[in-house]
Amino acid sequence: LTAATVPTLKLYDGGNIPALALGTWLGNNTKPGANEVENSVSWAIDAGYRHIDTAFAYRIEDQVGRALAKKIAEGVKREELFITTKLWNSEHAKDAVVPALRGSLSSLGLDYVDLYLVHWPVGQFNNGTYDYTDYVETWRGMMEAKALGLTRSIGVSNFNQQQIDRLLELGLEKPSVLQVEINLNLQQPSLLAYCSSKDIRVMGYTPFGSLFYSKAKPDAPAPRVDDPALVEIAKKYNKTVPQVSLRYLIELGVIPIPKSLTKSRIEQNIDVFDFTLTQEEKDVLKSFDRNYRTIPQLKWLDHPYYPFEKTTQ
Ligand code: NDP
Repeated sequence: LTAATVPTLKLYDGGNIPALALGTWLGNNTKPGANEVENSVSWAIDAGYRHIDTAFAYRIEDQVGRALAKKIAEGVKREELFITTKLWNSEHAKDAVVPALRGSLSSLGLDYVDLYLVHWPVGQFNNGTYDYTDYVETWRGMMEAKALGLTRSIGVSNFNQQQIDRLLELGLEKPSVLQVEINLNLQQPSLLAYCSSKDIRVMGYTPFGSLFYSKAKPDAPAPRVDDPALVEIAKKYNKTVPQVSLRYLIELGVIPIPKSLTKSRIEQNIDVFDFTLTQEEKDVLKSFDRNYRTIPQLKWLDHPYYPFEKTTQ
């Protein structure tokens, strides 16, 4: 296998963000002491991935750190890597941000990350009660973390357009990146247009949405991985349906974050930079947009900063 080369996109504050990242979230399957993510990150770097997406909340930053240390010892340069991690909801107080990032850096074995994101606009203490800290205060802590050089860029995740606008209207530093769910069922055209108009890059999480029978909820809209129209497009390029769906997101300007623990899939998911979809094919892919969210986090619906429209599903 020859390692793939992933193009980069410019961040407005100077950085270059690789156009695809490896996801590292295991859902509820995290087992202390396991090393499955350490393996997946190592395989990914061997395959050419240079961007790893992680978070304090995933409880595997230490595994990511071990893989990075190993690969750096083998000759990969830190400057070639782009590491994204996230501030958890329990650390929204302005003065909690820098210590939280220092904790992540220690787990990752790094002295800076490339991108630090506010994971959700919603604050919640570890005992489950809500923290009503204004995310604007949290953002001021993020700005401090950047000024200290602990992260090259700062951004937000799961913020809606109004919440980003509020940061901008207050004259605060503009987020470099917004990370939100984007897949065939949730294409978010107006949010993408907004971010493009502000020169904010978009990372798309859960890029496969409900493509796989093993993951799709019974009520999830089409398509599945065996959808005839998608199979036809994939065959034409000698690719798989998951590759076609990643390619579509890339052509929308989105940085997809496919997660896999399987070596062959990790290699497959980065092999999407040698073909281009036609307008007709993109129209087929566009037709699956249903404004259907796989991760609505309805448990936070009554928090004042719950970011999503409250009527769907
Ligand atoms: P994905 O859409 O990446 O789907 C992951 C699933 O797809 C796994 O079950 C994986 O199986 C399977 N898979 C991956 N590639 C293939 C393939 N080529 N063929 C068949 N099956 C495949 O879901 P996630 O929800 O994990 O999202 C991706 C990443 O986005 C996360 O890991 C995380 O980094 C980030 N994220 C961020 C959130 C946020 O709030 N900011 C929220 C959710 C996710 P297997 O692993 O067994 O190979």
